[in-house]
Amino acid sequence: MKVDAYGTWHCGDRTTKVYTKPQTQQQKHSHNLAMKKPIYVTQPSLPPLEEFIPYLEKIWKSKILTNNGPFHKQLEEALCEYLDVEHVALFNNGTIALITALQALKIKGEVITTPYSFVATAHSLVWNNIEPVFVDIDPATCNLDPERIEEAITPRTTAILPVHCYGNPCNTERIQQIANTHGLKVIYDAAHAFGVKHKGESVLRHGDLSVLSFHATKVFNTFEGGAIICPNAEIKQRIDHLKNFGFADETTVMETGINGKMSEFNAALGLLQLKTIDNAIKRRRQTEARYRNALVNIPGITLLPDPADTIGNASYMPIMVNMEYPLSRDELYQKLKDAGINGRRYFHPLICDLPMYSKLVDENRTQLKSARTAAENIICLPIYPSLLNKQVDEVADLISSAEDSTGTTKTF
Ligand SMILES: *Cc1c(COP(=O)(O)O)cnc(C)c1O
Repeated sequence: MKVDAYGTWHCGDRTTKVYTKPQTQQQKHSHNLAMKKPIYVTQPSLPPLEEFIPYLEKIWKSKILTNNGPFHKQLEEALCEYLDVEHVALFNNGTIALITALQALKIKGEVITTPYSFVATAHSLVWNNIEPVFVDIDPATCNLDPERIEEAITPRTTAILPVHCYGNPCNTERIQQIANTHGLKVIYDAAHAFGVKHKGESVLRHGDLSVLSFHATKVFNTFEGGAIICPNAEIKQRIDHLKNFGFADETTVMETGINGKMSEFNAALGLLQLKTIDNAIKRRRQTEARYRNALVNIPGITLLPDPADTIGNASYMPIMVNMEYPLSRDELYQKLKDAGINGRRYFHPLICDLPMYSKLVDENRTQLKSARTAAENIICLPIYPSLLNKQVDEVADLISSAEDSTGTTKTF
């Protein structure tokens, strides 16, 4: 059994699917691929199991399982160093970290955010009784468009919650300028941005807080996990209380906290994962370059521009399927799927179109044209460190040899 991004369980093997006799060259190609193991949009990196055993032995010996244990402390220190940030507060997952970050800064009223993200971004607001106000994205980065933020500010606005989508850095300077002008806090959902450097420094050093996810599908995973990046010791202290029910010491409960603690098991795994993260990101970037090279000249396929002054983490491989392409985005998605290649339509549907949000959106106040275009046209292709060059080439070949509705095969 395999877990796909966001909890879709895949049982058995796709080869059990019965195929009718393939006819065109294209169908033969799909057929051949379908006989192989399916490829998913991502596959978690894991260390060799035997390397994890000594860590488990230490946990079994010490009987310290959680509550800021030795591995937890070590991982916080190691991540500060690796990410080049001042303070890290570890969490059991990214969503609880987001919810806690909003609590820590006492955010309320309305918060400006992007509809083009994973649902947890907006859910974290609603769990704090905050109203999300969705603002359109910049099509070049798929990030919140700073030029659209000010028109969405009302007297109830208290903060901005942007996402570094696909690890592309937000325009942090412009966002901070707007926040300063209007007295707003900025919390970055940096779930995609582990290790991303922008203009020579960590992209996590911006805003009031940044939130990471270490979920199985992310670049750096601890099975489940997350963190808040804090600029100073005071806010880290407050967050550490909040993630432990509000306890400041054995008997003092400072506030209504939650249980957001990362266990020793996850922290130990994180320490081990850190040893190979540079190679993992390097390999992802090679794969991204290979895809870019193979896909750049296919009519109707657009790649997002490589962000300027950025050392990215190649966490996702989004491509945009345009009108000139012989297939619609969903047809291409299906064609890949039939060949055992599972891309994902991140992020479709838009958060604001989900039933619990659709009644909130006032399209007159916030036109969401670019977000809609992205949600309708983007597919994220498989990318992960163990993906083979051969597999990347297979995916690219399938995309470049597209059949239109008349059944003729076009090879570009
Ligand atoms: C993964 C993700 C989250 C949630 O993180 P979890 O660790 O799965 O709770 C939040 N925001 C974005 C943009 C994500 O991709």
